[in-house]
Amino acid sequence: MISLEAKNLTIKYGKKLALQGVDLDVKTGEIISIIGPNGSGKSTLLKALSRCIRPDDGEVRLNGKDILKLNNKKIAREMAILPQVKNSCSDIEVENLVSYGRYPHLGFGKKLTRKDREIVQWAIEKTGLLGYENRYIDTLSGGERQRAWIAMALAQRPKILLLDEPTTYLDISYQIEVLELIKELNTSLDITVVMVLHDINQAARYSDHIYVLNSGKVYKYGKPKDIIRDELLREIFRIEAHIYKDEINQCPYFIPHKII
Ligand code: ADP
Ligand code: MG
Repeated sequence: MISLEAKNLTIKYGKKLALQGVDLDVKTGEIISIIGPNGSGKSTLLKALSRCIRPDDGEVRLNGKDILKLNNKKIAREMAILPQVKNSCSDIEVENLVSYGRYPHLGFGKKLTRKDREIVQWAIEKTGLLGYENRYIDTLSGGERQRAWIAMALAQRPKILLLDEPTTYLDISYQIEVLELIKELNTSLDITVVMVLHDINQAARYSDHIYVLNSGKVYKYGKPKDIIRDELLREIFRIEAHIYKDEINQCPYFIPHKII
């Protein structure tokens, strides 16, 4: 079991208020998506949840404990984050990158054990990268590269995976490949997922619950069918759209027809 909660989160960059009084509650086993216009505070929220930035007010609680009071290793054993902009270490082999996921588990100055190497292999296998171990990251396709990053996060053996726009810049087939992988990790390994998604239809398709951020506040939280509504698309995304229901997946989707 795992719980991750934000209470009254408030974050400023200088005078700019990026988050104001945000409450969020992540329950074990869920896939949660955060959506919202550019600059609405999505990445800031994800960074605060993983303690990459410190709130000016409010707090994040991991399993009931204030995250600021936990040490890095403790946090890294519970959660892994895949940021929006990744450090550009492209001249590294897949297996090496994935093995970085084991570092929070190693003792000071310790090397990877046999068990660690097995976990690295397992993560490579789970993400469909067998045979790619010695390929350099910069020789991979977008989808493969994203899977390699997810493999690194997976090698951490986290209970929660935080992903910031994991499908951005990918072709549609790679987008679905990555989302299907995330869904598979959620169902087969029971990993709780919090992800920022740009594509609202994809958020509706792959999430149990959605948080909509607007100007640093939670505009709405709910199940996809309660989120994908005319008012939301008009007020927050400034579009008019026809909303339909995908009968196979039982989820809403929309087709925009006008900018307001
Ligand atoms: P999103 O991910 O929803 O696009 P962000 O969380 O990145 O939004 O940004 C929220 C707001 O905070 C934006 O107005 C952005 O310009 C601002 N912001 C983000 N990071 C910084 C920073 N390091 N310094 C100053 N302002 C920032
Ligand atoms: Mg962002």
